[in-house]
Amino acid sequence: MSARARVLLLNAALGPLDYRVPEGMVAEPGSIIVAPLGPRQMLGVVWEADRMRSAGEVGDNRLRNLIGAVDAPPIPAALRRLIEWTADYYLAPPAAVLRMALASTSALEGARTLTEYRATGALPQRMTSKREQALARIGERQGLIRELALAAEVSDAVIRGLVSTGALEAVEVSIDSPFAPPDPDFSIPALSTDQSAAAATLVAAVEARAFAPILLDGVTGSGKTEVYFEAIAQAIRSGQQSLVLLPEIALTEPFLKRFTARFGAMPIVWHSDLRQSQRRRAWRAIASGEARVTVGARSALFLPYRNLALIVVDEAHETSFKQEEGVHYHARDVAVMRGRFEQCPVVLASATPAIETRQQVVLGRYTEVKLPGRYGVAQLPTITALDLIAEPPQRGRWLAPRLVAAIDETLERGEQVLLFLNRRGYAPLTLCRTCGHRFQCPNCTAWMVEHRLVRRIACHHCGHIEKVPEKCPECGNEDTLVACGPGVERIADEAALLWPEAKRAVITSDTISSPAKAAEFVHRMEARDIDIVIGTQLVTKGYHFPNLTLVGVIDADLGLSGGDLRAAERTFQQVSQVAGRAGRSAKPGHVYIQTHDPKAAVMQALVGGDAAAFYEAETEARREANAPPFGRYAAIIISSEDKAAADDTARAIKRSAPRVDDMHVYGPAPAPLAMLRGRHRFRLLVHAKRSIDIQQILRDWLGAIDWPGKVRVTVDVDPYSFL
Ligand code: ADP
Ligand code: ZN
Repeated sequence: MSARARVLLLNAALGPLDYRVPEGMVAEPGSIIVAPLGPRQMLGVVWEADRMRSAGEVGDNRLRNLIGAVDAPPIPAALRRLIEWTADYYLAPPAAVLRMALASTSALEGARTLTEYRATGALPQRMTSKREQALARIGERQGLIRELALAAEVSDAVIRGLVSTGALEAVEVSIDSPFAPPDPDFSIPALSTDQSAAAATLVAAVEARAFAPILLDGVTGSGKTEVYFEAIAQAIRSGQQSLVLLPEIALTEPFLKRFTARFGAMPIVWHSDLRQSQRRRAWRAIASGEARVTVGARSALFLPYRNLALIVVDEAHETSFKQEEGVHYHARDVAVMRGRFEQCPVVLASATPAIETRQQVVLGRYTEVKLPGRYGVAQLPTITALDLIAEPPQRGRWLAPRLVAAIDETLERGEQVLLFLNRRGYAPLTLCRTCGHRFQCPNCTAWMVEHRLVRRIACHHCGHIEKVPEKCPECGNEDTLVACGPGVERIADEAALLWPEAKRAVITSDTISSPAKAAEFVHRMEARDIDIVIGTQLVTKGYHFPNLTLVGVIDADLGLSGGDLRAAERTFQQVSQVAGRAGRSAKPGHVYIQTHDPKAAVMQALVGGDAAAFYEAETEARREANAPPFGRYAAIIISSEDKAAADDTARAIKRSAPRVDDMHVYGPAPAPLAMLRGRHRFRLLVHAKRSIDIQQILRDWLGAIDWPGKVRVTVDVDPYSFL
């Protein structure tokens, strides 16, 4: 009898294929193998034949032999179930999900060392501008040829040239050296009564080794991290693994510091900025079970943990847990599913839980654990709304007089100030004073944003960049370009004008481009080398700066326009989070919110601190509209470089929409960003009752239609971004 194996190959365009298992080779479900595909070889994973239909039935006599097994632990059954579930729920090819589990191809190769390169300090005899650029950008960095070339924005050949001249040298890196184990008893904090009670619930859940979704609902500064650290300590004691998901890699550094202080060793870090050698080492440690605690961005969710005992999703309300490319999954929701397949607790930690999560508590599906007050002597900050109509800033300025006075006093006391505006760059719109010409991105339906620091205008959607022209491209007049509205750089200019002595820092994804930059920022804040921080949403989460006592929200109305169903909720969360940075220690904190509409329910809730009433009203509004979590949405996005083709396809899809009770299909309409990265986009929105199997309907519906190859159709189940 020849053994037959169904294999899911790492190619999203292919369904599962069958192969023959050669004699002497082990190929059980989960085994990572190499298979022939045409003239090539490809990685894949053996699957249970009854759980995944083969893409093409092939007789035993025509099967090709598998080439070999990879020397790595198999993909565990719980992860195989998660891959199936994710592919099914989000209508994604299973191979695209599998790719996230096998996220380190070098981890699957046999080598135990990799050759990396670093600068020697010697300069090449013949210096070219490319070589100069490469050496300048490489600096202290070490990495593979390819990684250095990417970092330096030069070709591989330039890097190889530098190696042959002796300016770079080879370093053999052992990739499987063990990680230091964390010590659960290294430094146990004295918990408050509330914290102890909360920690006891989480620890018991870890001990129970059963699926248990838990909402850890604690105000900012209540010590949620200390509490879930106790659950992690319990998992370490029992020899099992924990995973902590963070919404931004910029938050990794502060997390690592706290983790090391508590456990005496570093956790395993997983994010997109890792070098290949680090990736391989982490992947293998996770797969072997050696990695006790992993902290990472959402992609860490699909790694092959061997014995997971706990998943924590920190700042679980953050919408950055939703992936907007490739597989459109929401890491918070997938984390809960993983906990179910692994039979372990999942802790969602947040000061401002999403309405979806609260509703699960109401329905009794999630347990709620509360931390009602800040830890120690710290009090929640006072919050004041500043009515921009009644007390406007001076002409051409953005800070209202009362906020200016508060900043004066704070700086006077030697304390730190945070000004929050969720807009990168200098101004959101630049136009010509003479002819009114506006700078639009050639690839997107979006205005170009001026970045004065680097003298460029940039599209924040596709990354298109141009120099700021000296004269208007339309009317040719010089010096007539004016900036409209503020971005963080413009607020920084105003702060420089008002407080020339104060040390300022602008914190955005432009300036905090790596974990190292984030660490430098934290260090400067702690050393009081910064008096005023001006930042985007990047500074609203997780940070703990005891000397920061004043927060100014420049434009609290910003998130409310645009008709997004979660706009008010998101504004509440964002402002609460940024307000939560103020007064986290002995010194009291104050928050000023600049708004045109201080009477809006969300502003009143923020000022009055009445979250419960706000959530209740929002939840009722959602219930009435049958919006999530009471009803469900799915978006079908049709895009093409050829506008007519996209339009035709969108209409054809609409025409073939099945008639289903309690389901409506809206559109097609041009997406708000009607053109993105040179592609024209149309959107259909499917709205249905919760009880309807929207995935099955979409599969049947879209499966029966053909569209031209130049048109792309993507489905976004439970969409968050309506752009
Ligand atoms: P949250 O995540 O809920 O906003 P944190 O976990 O960041 O709060 O805690 C706020 C601050 O209080 C941190 O500096 C933390 O180290 C400190 N803290 C919280 N609980 C304790 C404790 N039991 N002992 C000592 N420090 C604590
Ligand atoms: Zn663009």
